[in-house]
Amino acid sequence: MKRERCQVVIAGAGPVGTVMATLLAQIGVDVVVLEAGADCAQDLRASTFHPPTLEMLDQIGITPMLLKRGLKAPIYHWRDRQSGEFIEFDLSELSDVTRYPFRIQCEQYHLSRALADGLEKFDNADIRFGNRLLSFQQDDSGVDIEVETALGIDHLRADYLIGADGANSIVRKWLGIEFDGFTYAERFLCLSTEEDLAAHLPGLAPVNYVSDPEEWLVLLRVPSLWRVLVPTDGTLDDGELRSDKMKNEIFDRLTGDGAAIETRHRTLYRVHQRVAKSFVENRVILIGDSAHLNNPLGGFGMNSGVHDAFNLFEKLEPLLKLGKTTNGSLELYDRQRRKVTHSFTQTQTIENMKFIQSGHESGAHERKRQEMLAIKQDDVRRREYLLRQSMYESLAQAEAIN
Ligand SMILES: Cc1cc2nc3c(=O)[nH]c(=O)nc-3n(C[C@H](O)[C@H](O)[C@H](O)COP(=O)(O)OP(=O)(O)OC[C@H]3O[C@@H](n4cnc5c(N)ncnc54)[C@H](O)[C@@H]3O)c2cc1C
Repeated sequence: MKRERCQVVIAGAGPVGTVMATLLAQIGVDVVVLEAGADCAQDLRASTFHPPTLEMLDQIGITPMLLKRGLKAPIYHWRDRQSGEFIEFDLSELSDVTRYPFRIQCEQYHLSRALADGLEKFDNADIRFGNRLLSFQQDDSGVDIEVETALGIDHLRADYLIGADGANSIVRKWLGIEFDGFTYAERFLCLSTEEDLAAHLPGLAPVNYVSDPEEWLVLLRVPSLWRVLVPTDGTLDDGELRSDKMKNEIFDRLTGDGAAIETRHRTLYRVHQRVAKSFVENRVILIGDSAHLNNPLGGFGMNSGVHDAFNLFEKLEPLLKLGKTTNGSLELYDRQRRKVTHSFTQTQTIENMKFIQSGHESGAHERKRQEMLAIKQDDVRRREYLLRQSMYESLAQAEAIN
């Protein structure tokens, strides 16, 4: 049987797979991207790009597009739904650290789509939609890969296989790597509307985490829409959760007249906190959601996946260029990125969830509120907090690991 040969196969053309492919294509690596879908997914997921991610994406020339398409959001709020009080944080305070002292609010599919277009222009890169990675076997010198297409099964051989194939990663499953953690009992409902929510809730920032023991919310603006993320009642079925009745009730509580609000999307998500036991097995490597999952409070999932891609690129480039066989540097990728996934992304998102949903009666919410106020009022602690929330601290932690 004849096998097509290339240096790297990437499974998945989401934001993380397309970033990885572009990094490799730019240095002349022969790369094939397999995407099971007919196009890059256009679902409502990541919308926040943090400052260090924008700096990294400059290296592949895509940040100007995000700045143009997205909304600059230097300010975000932690809000208390019952009292209306909010604590404001302003990323402009980091203007001595970054040329991008703000979040960019832009739907993640603009990134994947633009990078997929860019990949088409490289002779050494090939992005194949409607191509599902089915299975693979690795040996000391490479990886044999089977791919399902509309017409049959294709056979490839690559030096390395990168699994950027998301939460249900078949790459991770074939490797038999455990995916420890937990799944939240409630699903999250994401509604989007063209209605200007700031007209109903004066003073709203473009990014708002609204705590409430009854029904917490995330209210996010992207250029053309407001997005509302709410937890749902686990006993209700999909139809009920996506119904007009449910939509009206949610917006009744938010704006006073839910029936008057039209929505563009109503999407349900199951949310997990999980980390793969290993991100590397010889010539097969996991990046992005295939390696780790977390709740969306803080906007860290896609950003940390992009950080994986840049870290891995640093380690893979010399191996590919010099044909070195040692995978010691890949083990360093595993140590650095897995460590900060636990110490930062998992810890911070779990903490954010506890704060946003905490009951007033327990006293925990008030303690956390007081702690946030203390951070806000102390110049040193506030700066540390901003560096942590914008993910600089996690990158510094990773770099310190050797
Ligand atoms: C409601 C919500 C809001 C979020 N908000 C944010 C945010 O603001 N900021 C942030 O950083 N993160 C956020 N996230 C997380 C973010 O969406 C994910 O972390 C991100 O999509 C991960 O990118 P990825 O490329 O690793 O995986 P995915 O985006 O899941 O892409 C994986 C791709 O692989 C393809 N694929 C799967 N199996 C195969 C196969 N066998 N063969 C070929 N292709 C395959 C899929 O079709 C898909 O296109 C949010 C998530 C949710 C649910």
